[in-house]
Amino acid sequence: MRIVLLGAPGSGKGTQAKLLGERYGIPQISTGDLLREAAAGGGNLGRQAKTAMAAGELVSDEVVLGMIEQRLKKPDTRRGFILDGFPRNIPQAQALDSLLNWLGRPLQVTLYINVSQDTLVKRLTGRITCGACGAIYNEFFSPPRKSGVCDACGKRKLKKRGDDNAATARNRLVVYERDTEPLVDYYKAQQKLRTVSGGGGVKDICERISGLIDADIRPLAAAVDLGGGGGDGAQTIISGGQVVTAETPAAAKKSAPAKKKKQTTAGKPKPAKRKTAAVSRAGKTKAAGKKTSRKKSTTTTRRKK
Ligand code: AMP
Repeated sequence: MRIVLLGAPGSGKGTQAKLLGERYGIPQISTGDLLREAAAGGGNLGRQAKTAMAAGELVSDEVVLGMIEQRLKKPDTRRGFILDGFPRNIPQAQALDSLLNWLGRPLQVTLYINVSQDTLVKRLTGRITCGACGAIYNEFFSPPRKSGVCDACGKRKLKKRGDDNAATARNRLVVYERDTEPLVDYYKAQQKLRTVSGGGGVKDICERISGLIDADIRPLAAAVDLGGGGGDGAQTIISGGQVVTAETPAAAKKSAPAKKKKQTTAGKPKPAKRKTAAVSRAGKTKAAGKKTSRKKSTTTTRRKK
């Protein structure tokens, strides 16, 4: 699963990315977290990041792209990842596409969490984060059970982020509209955008997002036709957006003449279908630009005679 979570500051990307990462067992990669770490570590890069973040501006593409490239090359991302807060503008999205294509692991979907402006401001200015375990609360919507104490780890390390004050929050929303919102159209044009309402409780939003992931992305990573019950013994595995077909051991035992008969109409053999096809994200199967038929959620592939 290779997913981007897109949404305004305060839309709940960070909270949802954490929950989804746990649910699907893939890392959540937040450029905001990486930059906060760099800022805390000091150094030239850290100071640059700190200044931009305090003003609610974007840190330079050069710095962010270097970080994200290093992170995406780590082995824990092989099963997938959830990008949170990246990309933040069109050049970053283009650089991400190039990097992932080069790694042979293109993005599958961008989930856009859509939240009203009023709610965004409350979420930003009311946010409290645990400095020990990273749990996120909101003093308006989801305060900790005991004031000042983290429900998750019990430590008294709850604090407001430096850039969550009213002035910086306003600027972050302006920057979002100017630089990041155009990504909605960018991913729409690639037919990779899915929109989820970001209103309501954390759990409800998580269920909505998971519903989309389960319907749209997980089938791409699963074996969808194991050759039995009406199949012809060819095993179709969809992996990374590619359909790979292989003959099952059981099918290999079947005699070839019986198969030949089935494929022949009025003594004329039907042209053999291709063994590989690309699957679009919308679930339609294409082979060399032509549509092929689908049975329920399975892709039937015939063996060459
Ligand atoms: P976040 O934690 O995602 O809300 O990000 C906090 C701040 O980090 C932002 O307001 C930016 O200053 C900076 N930041 C995070 N991600 C990026 C990015 N992809 N590009 C540039 N700056 C970023």
